Amino acid sequence: MTGEIDKTASAAVQTVGFTGLQQGPKLLVTGAVHGNEICGPQAIARAIEDCRSGRLAITRGHVTFVPVVNAKAWRQGTREGDRNLNRNLREREIPSSNEDLVGNVLCGLLRAHDVLLDIHSFRSRGEPFVFVGPSNNDGPIEPFRLAEAERDFARRLGPRLVMFGWLPTYARAAAARHGDPTEGVGTTEFMRSCGGYGVTLECGQHRDPGAAEVAYDAIVRALSHLRLTDTTPPSVTVERAIEIVDVVLCHSAGDRLVREWRTGDPVKPGETIATRENGSRLTALADGFVIFPDANARPMDEMYYFGVARSLDA
Ligand SMILES: [Zn+2]
Repeated sequence: MTGEIDKTASAAVQTVGFTGLQQGPKLLVTGAVHGNEICGPQAIARAIEDCRSGRLAITRGHVTFVPVVNAKAWRQGTREGDRNLNRNLREREIPSSNEDLVGNVLCGLLRAHDVLLDIHSFRSRGEPFVFVGPSNNDGPIEPFRLAEAERDFARRLGPRLVMFGWLPTYARAAAARHGDPTEGVGTTEFMRSCGGYGVTLECGQHRDPGAAEVAYDAIVRALSHLRLTDTTPPSVTVERAIEIVDVVLCHSAGDRLVREWRTGDPVKPGETIATRENGSRLTALADGFVIFPDANARPMDEMYYFGVARSLDA
């Protein structure tokens, strides 16, 4: 591999693995689940080169790198091939789209590993962050027992911000548009359902050249934290946590964000975040933060999420 991904290659999912001579956990590192997010493929290509050359020496366990999960979307330079691969992810006996086919391969990979680092970037401006799953719970939406390990992993990947609360909030949004409440299941949710743990690393804006550095740094930190490499274990970088507690859907074409929000922008109670076409204001209900603002949301798309500061105790 030269570090460049061949955009004319087939839709096959390329995996590159390194197995240490000592026992240890199995880490899966994925890029381009969304085809327009280039930082993952760039960082993973660099990490593969470094593992081959010995600059990164894998001594324990196993790491599988998947530079480009969704080759069709990657070749097109689009977020999706036929649909969003990071939604409704499960194995299908009768696949009917590119993402169904890739999803079957991806689910098999997730089952074969213990830990997932899934590398993404986002549309709006904002600082890098790590998405983690729920606290330990036996509830119906996302039961989980490895929250301590997952959050300890997430705290050491480089970003200063962690977010959680995705699945229950997304499930409410899906219900509001009469969709499937399990639609919010993506890579990390599937990984947790298989008995492992995993995080989504959001490295910054899609075209930010710094995003690939964030991604590469996180890979090196992940390998070290899991003791796949014999380097000094990484220190905690996370300073704050935001729980996503609400999602606001666009209702009509005239709904507008009142300014160009960035993910993580703080808002005060009563502050106007957006307006409806009829002029009514959508305001912050508490001290909180605007998350994933989408100025181009169409009716029934998510216009923004709302989060509040929390501690990150598992
Ligand atoms: Zn993404």
